[in-house]
Amino acid sequence: MRYISTRGAATPLRFDDVLLAGLARDGGLYVPESWPRFSPADIRAMAGLPYHEIAYRVMAPFVEGAIDQAVFQRIVAETYAGFGHAAVAPLKQLSPNEWVLELFHGPTLAFKDYAMQLLGRLFDHVLAQRGERVTIVGATSGDTGSAAIEACRGRDAIDIVILHPKGRTSEVQRRQMTTVLESNVHNVAVEGTFDDCQDLLKGLFNDIPFRDEVRLSGVNSINWARILGQIAYYFVAAVALGAPERKLRFAVPTGNFGNIYAGYAARAMGLPIEQLVLVTNSNDILARTLASGDMRIGTVRPSLSPSMDIQVASNFERLLFDLYGRDGKKLAGDMEAFRKTGALALGPNLLDEARRVFSGARVDDGQTIATIAEVFKATGEVLDPHTAVGLAGGRAAPHDGRNPTVVLATAHPAKFPDAVEKAIGLKPALPPRLASLMTMPERMTDLPNDIAPLKEFVRKHARAAQSSIGSPA
Ligand SMILES: *Cc1c(COP(=O)(O)O)cnc(C)c1O
Repeated sequence: MRYISTRGAATPLRFDDVLLAGLARDGGLYVPESWPRFSPADIRAMAGLPYHEIAYRVMAPFVEGAIDQAVFQRIVAETYAGFGHAAVAPLKQLSPNEWVLELFHGPTLAFKDYAMQLLGRLFDHVLAQRGERVTIVGATSGDTGSAAIEACRGRDAIDIVILHPKGRTSEVQRRQMTTVLESNVHNVAVEGTFDDCQDLLKGLFNDIPFRDEVRLSGVNSINWARILGQIAYYFVAAVALGAPERKLRFAVPTGNFGNIYAGYAARAMGLPIEQLVLVTNSNDILARTLASGDMRIGTVRPSLSPSMDIQVASNFERLLFDLYGRDGKKLAGDMEAFRKTGALALGPNLLDEARRVFSGARVDDGQTIATIAEVFKATGEVLDPHTAVGLAGGRAAPHDGRNPTVVLATAHPAKFPDAVEKAIGLKPALPPRLASLMTMPERMTDLPNDIAPLKEFVRKHARAAQSSIGSPA
């Protein structure tokens, strides 16, 4: 399997190169040259298998030619062995035809662990094979950073620098990052918003000499392996609920369009998905785009579901690439214009094509609180605010109700105790394995919203820039 850039000008690469590169050198995102196909018989044969076995089957075609299949199978099994639930991603029923898929049984209690734990191990494997080191930098509005740090802590071939917007993540989210004290982990609190952090990150990647000097690598959801690690649970849930005989709807609380794009990939691979409901909070650029065809950047507004508080959804470019008939040159021009003007018009044909798979919904804070309260009353289940956004949007988007709806539960409610308390008057408890989080010492560095001091900081901590593996760090 080879990967091509959505902007058409970068050389096609193998999986291991795409893993280390993150963003393509032409500014585009990597996508597979073609989608592997799973027949109804292939899908039927997944029934009853453990999570890691389905995950291996689903992902194997994507790493072919880059990682030995037996090695990959072992890596996948190890990745999910440490999760806190025997089913890894259990389904819980809420009403006659409605389920939540719990994606919060990894070490940091959000769905990002499902891909990030795999990513850390894949980096380790590929770098050890090559005798190389990298410096991973990432920007986070909360959950990505802790998942990345947890996946990379203590790994000899990796130094990791994570930027978060100072004072704008929840205390639990911050502490999940800053209480990790391994010497290869560096937290930076930026005086600015998440979008400022993302801009700084882009600035680092766009400086090619710097990028090469410190062997910069990315784990934000633009990294193809992040998408890859999220495809499996769509198959796992669908098979458990009767695929390929039965079609499903998925409702996905959406920010950067990474999670729901993995659902799009699953559908392209043959999984019978009737509809993907793209649900945003009041930061609704993608819901508006699906409603009107007019993709227009607004200002970021803080909400009760902060991991979705963004206005530029990087992964949407991957969908656009397919909608453009994979014309990277045309897309490159339009994305360049979008960056300058903050607006892009999808014509009626493209919009119709997108609506064949996606429907959109927007859920504000009031509805989020009401949904948490209502579900608690009806079932006793406590939803986190992101999951509540997904559920409310899945219910609101038009459908005939015949096929089951699966809502992706993207975080554990204890990560967002204030919103939950507002809704039901109770603060959900952290799972016992995280009980000491609120008292452990923290370490982080404050930096201004400015690229120069950030480069200095990264340079100082990047062992890849100073020594080769084996010499004293
Ligand atoms: C990251 C995140 C999202 C948004 O996912 P995308 O892949 O960026 O669309 C939703 N909910 C939670 C809890 C998250 O951490």
